Amino acid sequence: MADKSLDIEAIRARYRQERERRLTPAGTDQYRFAEGELAGLDADPYAPPPAPRAALDEELDLLAIGAGLGGLQLGAELRRKRIDNFRILDVAADFGGTWYWNRYPGLRCDVESYIYLPFLEETGYMPTERYVRGSEIFAYCQLLGRHFGLYDRALFQTAITGMRWDDDAARWVVTTDRGDTFRARFVTTQSGIFSRPQFPGIAGIEHFKGKMFHSARWDYAYTGGNGDGGLDRLADKRVGLIGTGATALQVVPELARDAAHLTIFQRTPTAVGVRDNGPTDPAWFASLPPGWQREREITFNQIANGEKVDCPIDDGWSRFFNRLIAAVEALPEDQRTAEAIGAAQEAADFAYNEIVRARVDDEVSDPEKAALLKAWYRTLCKRPGFSDDYLPACNRDNVDIVDVSGGVDRISEDAVIVNGRSYPVDCLIFCTGFELGTTWAHQAGYDVIGRDGRRLSEKWDQGLVTYHGLFSHGFPNIFFMGLTQTGTTVNVPHMLREQIDHLTYIVRRCLDEGLTRVEATREAEQGWQQQIAAVNEARRPFQEACTPGYFNAEGKAEDRRSAIGSGMYFPSTAFFRMWEEWRAAGRFEGLDVS
Ligand code: NDP
Repeated sequence: MADKSLDIEAIRARYRQERERRLTPAGTDQYRFAEGELAGLDADPYAPPPAPRAALDEELDLLAIGAGLGGLQLGAELRRKRIDNFRILDVAADFGGTWYWNRYPGLRCDVESYIYLPFLEETGYMPTERYVRGSEIFAYCQLLGRHFGLYDRALFQTAITGMRWDDDAARWVVTTDRGDTFRARFVTTQSGIFSRPQFPGIAGIEHFKGKMFHSARWDYAYTGGNGDGGLDRLADKRVGLIGTGATALQVVPELARDAAHLTIFQRTPTAVGVRDNGPTDPAWFASLPPGWQREREITFNQIANGEKVDCPIDDGWSRFFNRLIAAVEALPEDQRTAEAIGAAQEAADFAYNEIVRARVDDEVSDPEKAALLKAWYRTLCKRPGFSDDYLPACNRDNVDIVDVSGGVDRISEDAVIVNGRSYPVDCLIFCTGFELGTTWAHQAGYDVIGRDGRRLSEKWDQGLVTYHGLFSHGFPNIFFMGLTQTGTTVNVPHMLREQIDHLTYIVRRCLDEGLTRVEATREAEQGWQQQIAAVNEARRPFQEACTPGYFNAEGKAEDRRSAIGSGMYFPSTAFFRMWEEWRAAGRFEGLDVS
């Protein structure tokens, strides 16, 4: 229901003003990676260097790149469909993907574990809490690896060095840094979106002489403790933290409790909604009927896509989406134009933002700190935050918040300099996210050479060009999983699962029917590009009004180089139904199959 007391124009103006303060001409190019003077900052702190192993030379039905929740679910489905001649490769030393790399204190999933953790009914595993710790998720990934017999198909600490399509043999020839050569009928890439740490482009960062590390490479030897907390070696340390996104929300309560002093250098505050975590009730969990998990994840996705359905999840996400749904429902049916729906959703969003800002005043007693912690942008401009500990942690006396919305001047050997003032620190922790704004090939770290020697890095130098996200013309038998131009879900494992159902259907049929090549037709790809362009165009005003972030190429929505910038198909509910019908029709529509 629209809140009549809201001054819509004034809120819009404030959001615009805050956005403009944060825009930087460099956009996505402002960031640095673990290269050059920062080389080594992405080294694996959790595993020793790999032991030597014999190089492999293998013929495979499928080579899967990435052993996170994408690779694990894919491996499980391949086993179910009796496609056993596969390998799963990863640069990490175990399964887990993002849950392998991210082990920072306070880490938890931000979507209910009952739908985030796949195959709970198959494994019989009961998550201990509604939002479980990262250590539990990592252990569950290992459990999935064991349960589906995937360890003997996995090759860890192995990086791709080359990938070329051999058209005569109808095989991908893939080489690795361990000297392996694989000839695979099919390849899938699910190397993830949060795999490469990103660092702030602040002058002098390479000259800092204290300890510094990224949240996805936590140095427990320096801080003490583990993913569950207890950072006892920080008791006499002045810690500086750069980055205040979803990661920082989970890290800050741990640092605030254990460090002598914490200075948070904040460019944009995250809106912090209610978390409501708690232990799982075993009786409730045991009472869930067969099929409950699929039902739960589907209805959650439906409400995230604006469908009014009966979803059993009552949490920060669902309450937010249900507000938007109610606002649209309140419109008379004959007045539900795109414009009226947009306006109703905007008003409902603004009303929610007001509640979130009021929460800051309730939790933070220092009015200056409270003012800094209020977020002035629409909820879905960034990944929404939920925490019941973050604001109380910021309220502590040993925690300072320094506004760097105008930028940090520089980093010296022992301090962060802001507006000419020096803030000395012993340790700098970067919660500055992941490489998301660059091209697909840059993020993957390897190129793909397709039919007729065509390079993917060239085809996609200005953004992805795909058919349904999974396929690209000129690149047969390779499936591009992840946040490609596909239907997208808040609950990422669900999206991956839909992609896996689709591609394994195709692989199974090809193997059964002796089909050797599957490739998107040029026409199908062009048609999909037009549909994606239309979705992008419809979303443009929203993106252009958003505060900078990785959803809008740091405020330059026209920069479409990255996978995220290339667009996604909404609503994903309709997208997944379309794929179901595509499979039921059985005609491989849009694909050349031989
Ligand atoms: P984000 O990309 O969301 O945030 C990066 C932060 O670094 C932002 O606050 C950004 O500020 C700040 N930053 C970057 N450069 C500078 C600079 N030069 N000076 C000051 N601040 C700077 O990274 P996160 O690691 O927080 O989260 C990444 C994603 O991972 C999330 O969006 C979420 O999808 C996922 N995630 C999921 C979790 C889960 O529970 N499942 C938990 C944590 C993360 P600004 O906003 O101004 O750009």
